[in-house]
Amino acid sequence: MIRKLYANFAYITDPRLVEALRVQYGHSSLAMTYQYTHNPKQLESADEVERALTLRRMMELINGEAVTGRAVSALAMDDDFQQLKADTQNSGQQIWIETAKWIQKHDLRFYESSHGGCLNVAPSEMRCKARNDKPEFLDDHQPNLSKRSAGTCVGCKNFIMMGSHRAFWTERYRAGKQFIESALAQGADAASLRIIKDRTRQAEALLRGIGEPLPPEDSTLNAGPPSRGGGQSPKLDITDGGVRD
Ligand code: SF4
Repeated sequence: MIRKLYANFAYITDPRLVEALRVQYGHSSLAMTYQYTHNPKQLESADEVERALTLRRMMELINGEAVTGRAVSALAMDDDFQQLKADTQNSGQQIWIETAKWIQKHDLRFYESSHGGCLNVAPSEMRCKARNDKPEFLDDHQPNLSKRSAGTCVGCKNFIMMGSHRAFWTERYRAGKQFIESALAQGADAASLRIIKDRTRQAEALLRGIGEPLPPEDSTLNAGPPSRGGGQSPKLDITDGGVRD
């Protein structure tokens, strides 16, 4: 009760706090936060915003944007989605309508973050919900965004990485490389760096997966020439391998 009162007070004081409230309360969507703060008028529009983002992302996928992540495999096996991709010659309004129908049919949502997207194609295998203290109000299709992290998401069947997430993984790759080189220069035991090496390789695999070339001077961990135009490097593993944030 006090939590709801506080949320309502904060929202009325400054509606721009709604995103901060969503994070604080672990809500998976703005719609849920608006409901929590008793603003049903906003509820519909928040839901529309989420649907619009999902539609935009799916259109980017259909139009051939390079992507990687385990959700891509689920999409590859979805006949309807493959048919949509094949129909891209039906440009204009028709492809948008068909894609919107497909999203509705599968009750899909794209939950954005700096490290990647969460597309709920495998709701029974959401890693963020496998952790303890899952909020009771989440329904079966919603991730527990309060437990989401890059390390948790990467190995999840609902994870998808696109060009818009490049900056996060480039920075993780660079930071990992710098740390390893500095630690080795100071005499650190290579075995003690296993976790940071795995994380750095993971970042490399994702960047390669979307065809992002790595700087030539950053070659210590490279497993071969970058693959261009999407597709995951077969030599590298993007699953977490036990590495989580
Ligand atoms: S772990 Fe990440 S990708 Fe998986 S369901 Fe949760 S938020 Fe989505």
